[in-house]
Amino acid sequence: MSKEDDDALREKIGKMMADGLQTQTEPFPKDNFQFEEILKELRELEAGELEKKLVISGFVDHPYGEDEQRCLECMYYLVHRKWCDLPELAVPVDPQWWCRLWRI
Ligand code: SF4
Repeated sequence: MSKEDDDALREKIGKMMADGLQTQTEPFPKDNFQFEEILKELRELEAGELEKKLVISGFVDHPYGEDEQRCLECMYYLVHRKWCDLPELAVPVDPQWWCRLWRI
């Protein structure tokens, strides 16, 4: 995807959340088994099922939790591309967003 495509998709995702998309922010996976269960659900999606992907992974458009977790500090976040590099997600993100697959 080109930078323009990334930017357009990031904007689209941001708008979906701003328009009130309700996502599954809980439960936060407590261990690898629970983390894998969420990945398994994501792998079952067809390509292009963007909304379901956001819902299952619990996307929000702001820092989350008491310690204000954000994509910016997540191990899957690629700073220069503003991209989530977790293969099951693989979407452009904003550093201030969060999802329940957050890992450090
Ligand atoms: S896994 Fe979630 S928190 Fe981490 S970069 Fe991707 S979308 Fe952001």
